[in-house]
Amino acid sequence: MPEHPANAEPARADRVSVLLPLPLAGAYDYRVTNGMRVAVGDFVRVPLGRRRVAGVVWGPDRADVAEAKLKPIAETLSVPPLHDELRRFVDWVANYTLTAPGAVLRMTMSVPDALEPPRAISGYEIADAGRHALDDPAARLTPQRRRVLELLAEGGAATAGDLARRAACGPGVIKTMTAAGLLAPVALPAALPPPMPDWRLPGPPLSSAQETAAAELIGKVKRGGFGVTVLDGVTGSGKTEVYFAAIAATLERGRQALVLLPEIALSAQLLKRFADRFGAPPALWHSDLGHAQRRATWCHVADGQARVVVGARSALFLPFRDLGLIVVDEEHDASFKQEDGVIYHARDMAVVRASLAQLPIVLVSATPSLETTINALSGRYARLHLPARHGMARLPEIRVIDLRKQKPERQRFLSPPLVQALGETLAAGEQAMLFLNRRGYAPLTLCRECGHRMQCPNCTAWLIEHRRAGGLQCHHCGYATAMPPACPQCAAAASFAACGPGVERLAEEAAHRFPQARIAVMASDTLSGPRAMAELLERVERREVDMLIGTQVMAKGHHFPMLTLVGVVDADLGLSGGDLRAAERTFQLLHQVAGRAGRAERPGVVLLQTYMPEHPVMQALASDDRDGFFAAEAESRRDGNWPPFGRLAALIVSAPDADAADRAARVIARQAPHVEGIEVLGPAPAPLAMLRGRHRRRFLVKAQRAASLQSTLRAWLDAMQLPAAVRVQVDVDPYSFL
Ligand code: ADP
Ligand code: ZN
Repeated sequence: MPEHPANAEPARADRVSVLLPLPLAGAYDYRVTNGMRVAVGDFVRVPLGRRRVAGVVWGPDRADVAEAKLKPIAETLSVPPLHDELRRFVDWVANYTLTAPGAVLRMTMSVPDALEPPRAISGYEIADAGRHALDDPAARLTPQRRRVLELLAEGGAATAGDLARRAACGPGVIKTMTAAGLLAPVALPAALPPPMPDWRLPGPPLSSAQETAAAELIGKVKRGGFGVTVLDGVTGSGKTEVYFAAIAATLERGRQALVLLPEIALSAQLLKRFADRFGAPPALWHSDLGHAQRRATWCHVADGQARVVVGARSALFLPFRDLGLIVVDEEHDASFKQEDGVIYHARDMAVVRASLAQLPIVLVSATPSLETTINALSGRYARLHLPARHGMARLPEIRVIDLRKQKPERQRFLSPPLVQALGETLAAGEQAMLFLNRRGYAPLTLCRECGHRMQCPNCTAWLIEHRRAGGLQCHHCGYATAMPPACPQCAAAASFAACGPGVERLAEEAAHRFPQARIAVMASDTLSGPRAMAELLERVERREVDMLIGTQVMAKGHHFPMLTLVGVVDADLGLSGGDLRAAERTFQLLHQVAGRAGRAERPGVVLLQTYMPEHPVMQALASDDRDGFFAAEAESRRDGNWPPFGRLAALIVSAPDADAADRAARVIARQAPHVEGIEVLGPAPAPLAMLRGRHRRRFLVKAQRAASLQSTLRAWLDAMQLPAAVRVQVDVDPYSFL
């Protein structure tokens, strides 16, 4: 049994409360039987109904169960206990997001079988008779047997399944070889500890701006204690090297570091840089990992052997043994917001965890969010600034193309100046990128005869045509169908017209214009996974691709030295709709895309196609006036008391039919709180009035900073009595307004 940390309270007496990773109202009381030693934070298994469930000793008993009804803890599990810091974090997140603490705990206990003792794995090694047979020409081995023996001849052992796969034989072969004495069974060691990143390895010599920033962060790591630092530097300024220096200092102190990334599938280049810098890869954490790897990482995070974890937002809930630093890279990225299950913002919650665990946290971005910018301006967060690109690279020049004047040809989407620039770039042997944040071929399909638009049966959304995959898809619910042979409304045959571009259609146009160019499309659905993504990026790096056409997956962090032209096909795309952050996000996204151009010696150019050249976002991008844009944006949010000045929560009421949704929304509206400083807007149909077959009505709750939003919402929710078919989803600090 591992040592308990000093902060664990000793087990009081014979009753404790145990939190289970289930959406229950709170922790349940259990009896501690004679002779059992439990402390707060211990993992235990307890009876629940007819099941047995693993949970965590959460504190003293709540004393609301009669002694006679109290069930005993079944067993204690030999896993390092959950630290006080993490238990308080689970409670904090549950309270803030208005979810059950057990639902938050479930994110921490996300690999249930990691709580079981490792099963001994049986494997096979080569026996002496096997060695002799390999060397003896008279032994007349079958090719399969020979391959198995050769695999094991250099020593080592493997499982039967692994051997059969590598030798391309059936498992029966291993069995008969063992019976014949050629192989010997052995017990394999449990999962090997992950390789240790080595902080002693020298990093590259830092520029003086990097050096200053790194020294500041290293000082914070050495002193320990809570503090938020914003690492603000233009794209390509070398922010990664700076936070690597802080990670090295964390490792030197023997502590663990966590790096949160918005989309781990897109981080192949970062992982490679990490491995080059520290001689070993970091531990990875994201939803695409195989179970065995998740289990190993969870265990090694808990026992402290995984020293650096690079992960998606859920990595924030891992049970680190001794966390010393958190880095949130691309902190402005909207994908840090988890939109289902427990709805939370990983960047904000990372700051909370750092504060509860008393450790430094670094928020990294070239375009920090308005939330973070305001905190930096007010002095709550420290700010480190890298003003220039590393080395000889210059920031690209950004030019606006007015689509009202520079019209593309009919049914085409590239304007004459962009076509010309593409031609020149390709002629110079350089690479170009076309950005359009829309998957598929065309966002709308309509009947030329009757005007009928192809719509999703489950959502208030058009179906998107995909030519590669074939057919029509809904990007909200995944509904897919073949393109019908005739219009479902007027029965006209072959009457469909594709309206507007997606990346596939753009690739078609580019291929038509530049038949010699090697064109690749990069979107989340055109690549089968992280590996395919990494392979494509390598092809671009090797210059086997001349023109890369893609969605926002292409905007992130990648570094292509020969890429000198970025064309943004529809810069206005993100500006419509009722999202209060639409302008901010469009600026951040386009700035990030623009940052792909001219990252090495050759200067870069970015062309923005827009129908609104006078829009503040386009103006700010073209004149490189980020701070002016954010200042204006801050003013308008302050005026309306919108976040980050005021606070916001959304309530989505949904039901299988529209009437039920309306009725429920009316009932909820009648009970709406009347509290000073809190205003309830709605109900109104949500912009996605129907999603996955459910009809949705929305309330927005706007609160002054000083008002107690959570307790008001809790009282409101507690009073609701709704039919079982009605669901109410609470989203505190909403980022999606669909
Ligand atoms: P950012 O994260 O700010 O966009 P990066 O850290 O990716 O910038 O750095 C941009 C490029 O400059 C990368 O190719 C990186 O390897 C290189 N670079 C950054 N700092 C250094 C340094 N001190 N020495 C050598 N190369 C560096
Ligand atoms: Zn749909």
